[in-house]
Amino acid sequence: MERNLYTMKYFSSMLLEWYSLHKRDLPWRRSRNPFHIWVSEIMLQQTRVDTVIPYFHRFIEKFPDIDALASAPEEEVLKAWEGLGYYSRARNLQSAVKEVREQYGGEVPRRKQDISALKGVGPYTAGAILSIAFNQPEPAVDGNVMRVLSRYFYIEEDIGAGSTRAYMEHLIRDLIPEGTASDFNQALMELGALVCTPRSPHCLTCPVMEHCSGRIAGAEESLPVKKKAKPPRPEQRVAAFITEGNAGEGSAVKFLIRQRPEEGLLARMWELPHFLLEDLPFGWNASHKQCMDYLQGRMAEQERLVVKPQQWIGNTEHTFSHIHWSIGLYECAIPEKSPSPLPAHYRWIDYSEMDKYAFPKVFLTAIKRLAAGQ
Ligand code: SF4
Repeated sequence: MERNLYTMKYFSSMLLEWYSLHKRDLPWRRSRNPFHIWVSEIMLQQTRVDTVIPYFHRFIEKFPDIDALASAPEEEVLKAWEGLGYYSRARNLQSAVKEVREQYGGEVPRRKQDISALKGVGPYTAGAILSIAFNQPEPAVDGNVMRVLSRYFYIEEDIGAGSTRAYMEHLIRDLIPEGTASDFNQALMELGALVCTPRSPHCLTCPVMEHCSGRIAGAEESLPVKKKAKPPRPEQRVAAFITEGNAGEGSAVKFLIRQRPEEGLLARMWELPHFLLEDLPFGWNASHKQCMDYLQGRMAEQERLVVKPQQWIGNTEHTFSHIHWSIGLYECAIPEKSPSPLPAHYRWIDYSEMDKYAFPKVFLTAIKRLAAGQ
């Protein structure tokens, strides 16, 4: 890939000038606090800025520094993260700040090899913290940045390939004017977020349009090149909303929640018990009666709990990066004198106690809908 020194210099200076005039006032930009920048970068992975802002405020208010986050019970951290998804990010962040407290006296390390060794800190996050907080000329290559560079420099390589990322990291090191790493990387991200958007980029108002090779070639919409990722695997599931048989008139409805295993997807979060319909011969075409029989069987075999499914009460769905869950919800009763003791990973709660437990969004939404009687 050929480089032209003039268009490189033009890109950097126009970009920095534009950023100084148009940057958004975001809460994590108000200081160079490396902990705040770290939290914001982890929250911003896979999540939009508008969504992150209120979460960021609440999180920093609750855990204002490394010590506060390192000392907090994990349940509280997950609760503060609830709704943002990708909960392993919160767990990794807490593990990493504990390490920072123990190994580096509570100071975020400034050496690339140290920061990169922390849990959940990949090359992008390391580059973002080192450049934004410490002004070190390190690249921070995310999707926005790859899109802008692909278009401006007309790079037609697959942005999912490691070699393309490595090339872009190299390119950014050459593009950063001395002493401007913090602003330069943020400017690049900002241009991708506000102007050089995935669809219909705003080339006419773009500060670097004059020498943008992608725009000149009319290829701004077809770049960047990205090989299609595999679509998420669909999974049909059935969930039990088990209410207490003896909830009398006026008393709060109690329902059963279960905690997920220590490892894996949504580890240690709380949910309604649910099961994959994979073994059923009728699979996706299962009737409600078949689903309820199946649910009753799985509750008995797997959870050792006797429940009586009563009726279908709705559906809920959620897409993770690799799986799509479609869940049928069934109201179930539990016999008053149930022969089965409650397993250790189950709890009876009522709606007012939901704040004490961290739920993944898919169940939080479903339970809130049930509470509202919808
Ligand atoms: S001119 Fe258009 S394609 Fe090129 S960087 Fe600007 S917005 Fe992106």
